Amino acid sequence: MEQKEIMIRLKGITKAFPQKKGTLEVLHGIDLDIEKGEIFGIIGLSGAGKSTLVRCINLLERPTEGQVFLDGQELTCLSEKDLRQARRSMGMIFQQFHLLMQRTAMENVCFPMEIAGVKKAEAREKAKELLELVGLGDRMESYPSQLSGGQKQRVAIARALATNPKILLCDEATSALDPNTTAGVLELLKDINKRLGITIVVITHEMKVIQEICNRVAIISEGKIAEMGSVQEIFRAPKTQIGQELVFHEG
Ligand code: ADP
Ligand code: MG
Repeated sequence: MEQKEIMIRLKGITKAFPQKKGTLEVLHGIDLDIEKGEIFGIIGLSGAGKSTLVRCINLLERPTEGQVFLDGQELTCLSEKDLRQARRSMGMIFQQFHLLMQRTAMENVCFPMEIAGVKKAEAREKAKELLELVGLGDRMESYPSQLSGGQKQRVAIARALATNPKILLCDEATSALDPNTTAGVLELLKDINKRLGITIVVITHEMKVIQEICNRVAIISEGKIAEMGSVQEIFRAPKTQIGQELVFHEG
């Protein structure tokens, strides 16, 4: 059998948040391998720990225990300085886009390159290519307030790609969009996966999104992986009660 290469490896990830009294552990020892080139889905009820898990992948949250590896490199042992460098190989997009409102689409996409020290002319050239890739070649000088939700998410995707990431993390990236706009953004993500070979992790509470673009999916429940498998398998015959609830009732 062909040996798959691992892009993201999580080993024994736990995360506890400090509380007024003691701590609240929201992830309890997550082991997960995501292969190079996959579009991998993570589903679960609200509060299950999906966002915390994805924020542990790029170390926006430091796991309390466990290790994160990206393309064979351990991230959890890096200094803040080395981690800033490593984060450039991980793009992220969010439900609420998080664009800089005072900057044009072009300037938003240039922003991570400015921080990385890329020369201005070079950054603009790259941003232009990326905005064309996401279908906004004619809206480069628009401000976020002048763009629709779908267009804003496209700018956010172009910005996430600006530092040539190996992975793209999507946390409820289509949850604020209507079904038609969602379909367009999902097509774009598929295209990016295929054309640029970027591994994509999709977190969502929308079962249709998973069925539309993912190869494999993990179900997370109360901070643990309840089950994991190919999208076909899980959607045909979920083995756990939480799997059945999600697949048969939420979808
Ligand atoms: P999901 O994305 O699946 O809805 P989250 O990862 O956002 O779940 O949240 C999981 C649990 O962790 C929730 O109980 C939430 O209240 C808690 N939580 C998330 N972030 C923090 C934080 N920064 N401080 C304290 N508790 C948090
Ligand atoms: Mg969330």
